[in-house]
Amino acid sequence: MGRKTKVSVQAFGYASKTDWMMDKVDIIIVGGGPVGLYLAGRLLQNGFSCKVFEQRENIDIHSKSLGIHPVSLDLFDRAGITQPFLDNGLKIECGLAFIDEEPVGEVSFQSCPPPHSYILAIPQWKTEELLEDWVKALDSEALTRGAHVEKLENSEHQTSVTYSTKEGNHQVSSDFVVGCDGKSSFVRNSCNISFKGSSYPDTYIMGDFDDNTAFGKDAAVFLHKDGLVESFPLPNGQRRWVVKTDNFIKEPGESLLTEQIFRRTHHHLGECENYMLSSFGVQHLLAETFHKNRVVLAGDAAHVVSPIGGQGMNLGWIDAEECLNTMIRIRQNPANKELYLKNYTTNQRKVAGQVAKRAEMNMRLGRKESANFWMRSGLKIVLKSPLKHLLARIFTMRGLGRWPI
Ligand SMILES: Cc1cc2nc3c(=O)[nH]c(=O)nc-3n(C[C@H](O)[C@H](O)[C@H](O)COP(=O)(O)OP(=O)(O)OC[C@H]3O[C@@H](n4cnc5c(N)ncnc54)[C@H](O)[C@@H]3O)c2cc1C
Repeated sequence: MGRKTKVSVQAFGYASKTDWMMDKVDIIIVGGGPVGLYLAGRLLQNGFSCKVFEQRENIDIHSKSLGIHPVSLDLFDRAGITQPFLDNGLKIECGLAFIDEEPVGEVSFQSCPPPHSYILAIPQWKTEELLEDWVKALDSEALTRGAHVEKLENSEHQTSVTYSTKEGNHQVSSDFVVGCDGKSSFVRNSCNISFKGSSYPDTYIMGDFDDNTAFGKDAAVFLHKDGLVESFPLPNGQRRWVVKTDNFIKEPGESLLTEQIFRRTHHHLGECENYMLSSFGVQHLLAETFHKNRVVLAGDAAHVVSPIGGQGMNLGWIDAEECLNTMIRIRQNPANKELYLKNYTTNQRKVAGQVAKRAEMNMRLGRKESANFWMRSGLKIVLKSPLKHLLARIFTMRGLGRWPI
């Protein structure tokens, strides 16, 4: 690794095209979502040459993740990129808990280890935009958009991918390929790595509205006999509402969401402008291995956890940092490649399992059957005891695997 030889990139099927010249890269990343972009930046910072191939021409502005957890902000500190995220985000320092409409306590994140004793609310598209700017500043040619990877060669000694763009097909080789290409990962499928798990019965609708609550920068969680309602502040004076439903509703209407919010919380959204509406079901999936020969998986390509608890993207960044550490170890001691890759799989599968359990706990708490007397009484006791500090650490992704509590 570390070679910077010039090799030609082959153009297939477009005889009139002149062959392009491109640096041979140490690492190819398939997928320029939040995980692929973060990994690219970290690899470039550490002296690896790398290319990211992303099939989308532009960032998807559909709002998915809204939260960056302290454990990720610690990683961002290491990378020296935290400030732009703070400039564009909003610090959630406290979560309020309600049973039906009755306030029963709060979980403050300020008891969590400094400096980031909060969850940073920032829409996923903005996160991707900031990461992309960073990667481009490190290497203006590292990211190719509109590049769909459709073939992968993975031998003991080398990897290569073939991707198509508007200009034609191209092939690039590298020492390693990292699949950061999401839940339906082409890379994972090409390596015949099985992706096992199951769907949960839980379904939700969500929407972003102007914020007309008095919650300010606090999040609020309502446990209700009809099911959970969650409410999170967003930057720019908006707030996200997530409502548990009995069935999957493919195209939820605004009125359905606002009616359910009113019924379960007595909060009236009135004339508040709506910016996004969507619905989602919940799955838990885990790849049987996170590496094969010279291919490594990270992010949703390796695991899918419930969005309730908001940890999937953050978990992907932990993978990416461990992937970087693995590549550094291999560069220092190539003979131990297989051992380091095995350790990556073992450690990250364990962390993914822990995150999935926590997400499942959050989900169970929001089910109708959890709104019983015992659960309510238990929650009230926990929120009045020092155990609430443990809850704060669990919600902020502390104490995962070898990562700090
Ligand atoms: C409703 C919802 C809310 C969520 N909220 C949160 C939250 O609050 N906090 C949190 O941490 N997580 C949250 N998540 C999860 C989070 O969105 C994902 O975990 C995260 O997007 C995973 O990032 P990724 O980079 O691994 O994959 P992706 O974001 O899926 O990116 C993969 C990229 O690979 C590209 N790609 C795929 N195939 C190819 C190919 N063959 N060639 C080239 N490019 C390819 C895709 O175009 C895509 O851009 C939420 C998810 C949902 C659905």
